This record gives sequence, structure tokens and C-alpha cells, in this order.
Amino acid sequence: MLKWKKALRISRMFLLFLIVAVLIPEDVLITAAKAQTVVDIQQGTEDVILDDNEKAETKQEELSTEEEDTPEPEPLLRGLIRDEKGNLYFYKDGEKIRNSWKTVKGNKYYFGKSGKAYTGKKKIGKATYFFTDSGKRKTGWKTIHKKKYYFSPKNGKMVTGRKTISHYLCVFDEKGVLTRKIDKNKKMIALTYDDGPSIYTPRVLTTLKKNDAVATFFVVGNRVPTYSDTVKKAYDMGCEIGNHTYEHKSLPRLSEAGVKEQMSRTDEAVKKVTGQTTVIMRPTGGATNENVKKWVGKPSIIWSIDTLDWKTRNADSTKRAVLNHVKDGDVVLMHDLYSATASASETIIPELVKRGYQLVTVSELAECRGGMKETGAYFSFRK
Ligand SMILES: [Zn+2]
Repeated sequence: MLKWKKALRISRMFLLFLIVAVLIPEDVLITAAKAQTVVDIQQGTEDVILDDNEKAETKQEELSTEEEDTPEPEPLLRGLIRDEKGNLYFYKDGEKIRNSWKTVKGNKYYFGKSGKAYTGKKKIGKATYFFTDSGKRKTGWKTIHKKKYYFSPKNGKMVTGRKTISHYLCVFDEKGVLTRKIDKNKKMIALTYDDGPSIYTPRVLTTLKKNDAVATFFVVGNRVPTYSDTVKKAYDMGCEIGNHTYEHKSLPRLSEAGVKEQMSRTDEAVKKVTGQTTVIMRPTGGATNENVKKWVGKPSIIWSIDTLDWKTRNADSTKRAVLNHVKDGDVVLMHDLYSATASASETIIPELVKRGYQLVTVSELAECRGGMKETGAYFSFRK
């Protein structure tokens, strides 16, 4: 009985001990341990006495401090490295390369003045290139702000002017924007207007614009300054400005100097307005000869459809002359000096588009059909 009571008392004490142990929070125990450490430190001497090992370590630290100017060389940065801002650089022997091209894994990059890789459309020297957001040069077609550009697969350069891509003759403006795309496999003709510019030219331009078409204007040089805005508008639309002499002179009657003067004065007048001289000419009345063809210094463009609009001054007659005879590769002669011709154009142009003709400039037509020679005279450009 007594033994049993003793056993019960021992059990109670053990249970109590367990409860106390569980109830004391852990941090109290830790604090107690820390207090012990603090007490240990306080019990030490105030003067810091270093043992031999600590001395050696301090010596080592002092040496390291002295060596700060010439630290142990870190491994040199090499290759493509992007910084925390996302800028891409190329390091050669630890240095950023600048103002130079670099090919990495078949991709071409350009690193500018600051060493940063170019992105987007960028000019380098005289040429413009395109780089993706990751700095890689991209070639081929690229649409930027809804405008189409083409970067040559050969050298990456942005294309301006005319360029054949696949079976299309593509026309790009000076900024590289694609303005027109001519399908070489489809039928096309060149409408040409002589003797202007005049007050009727803007009507023809409006009709062309509405139908997404262009034409060629063989201008008389001395009329250009009066209608410079019209000439500029035509040029900016993608129309071609050709040379039709300065004073509408018959060239076979002139001397070499006379012919050349008629040509150069017109070119000067046109260049003042468009910034470009003409690349084709039309002799007045279609009259030319071997000497004149040489002296004019550019291809002579005659015609394959003569509307006689200058003679009839009748819109219906002009319409019939074109619409009853037109075929692929034709060069159509009209004159933007007459109201009747501007009216006829308002029917002719949409009707030709409806029939599937691409209305192109003479130079574009020629380029699609084998080109021109400087001393050549051309009536049409057939396939
Ligand atoms: Zn004429």
C-alpha cells in the first residue's frame, strides 16, 4: 500500500516537471543562454588582448587593404552581356566594343557609340538597317507603324527607289516606305500626259489618286515654275515627270547645243521642284532622229495609242480611243491641257483599273518589260 502511494507521488512530480518544461517558452530559454554569453564577455578584460592566431589574421587583413589598388584580376568579361537595364553589350577582353558590327552565332549586331547594341530602324553610315528588340539584324519585309519597309537579304540595307522582289516591282520612297507594288505577271499600261502642267492637271491627279494609280507627265520646262505645286504633288504621289523640252521646240530642227539646252533647262526647272532630274523624255510631235536620240541623253518615249485629244477636244472620242484599243504594255498619249481630257480621264482611269490593268509610270513599265537604253526610242513595252 505504502509502495503504491510512493509510486503515485513520484508520478505526480514527474508529471509536474513535464508541465513546467512544456510551459516555459523557447525564447525565454534562448534569452537565458544569451545572458550567459554577455556575462562571459563582461567578465573578460577591457583591453583587447589578441592571441597569436588573431594577430596573424589581422596582419592578413592589413595586407589585403594594401593590395586594394591591384586586386586579384577578375575573369575578363567576354561576348554578349546584358546589363540590369536590359541593354546589350559585347565585351572583348573585358572592354565594350563600340561603333562596330559583330556576328554572334550567325546573327549580326551593331554596337553604337556607347557600346549599346542597336534596336529598331537605325542609320549606320549612309545605310539604314533594322534590329530586333534583342539586337539581331533582320532582313526582308518589316512593318513599322503600319508602313512597310524592305531590308535587303544580301546586306541588310533598307531599300529605297525601285526593287524587284519575287515577281513584284516594288516602289519605295526616300524614307524606305513601300508606296506601290506592281505584279509583273499582270497586265499594265502607262498613261502619259503632255504639254502641261496646266490648271487641268490637278483634276487628273485627283482621279489617279482615287484609283490608286499613277501616270507620267511630260512637262514643258517653261511652264513648271507657274505650276510648281502641281508638279510637286504629282511627283510626291509617285507619278513620273518626263522632259518635253523647255519651249515645246521641234528637236530635229535644232543644233546639238540647242537640243541640249532644251533638255537641261527643263531638267533644272523640274529639279528645283522635285529634287530630281528627269530620266525619260518625249520629243515634241514624236519627231526625232539618230542625232537627237543621242543628244537628248535619255530614252525617248513615243506612244502606241494616240488619242488625238488635242485635236478633237472631245471626252467621248478620247475615251473610245483608249478603251476600244488598249492592251497590255501600251503607252497612251493624252494632253493635260484640256478640260475634255481631264473629263475623259475620270472615266478611262477607273475603267482600266476595273479591267485589271495596273496603271504605272513609263519607267516602271519599262523596268517590268526588260528596261530601256539611253539612246533608244520606245512605242510600247510588250511582254
Ligand atoms: Zn507636246
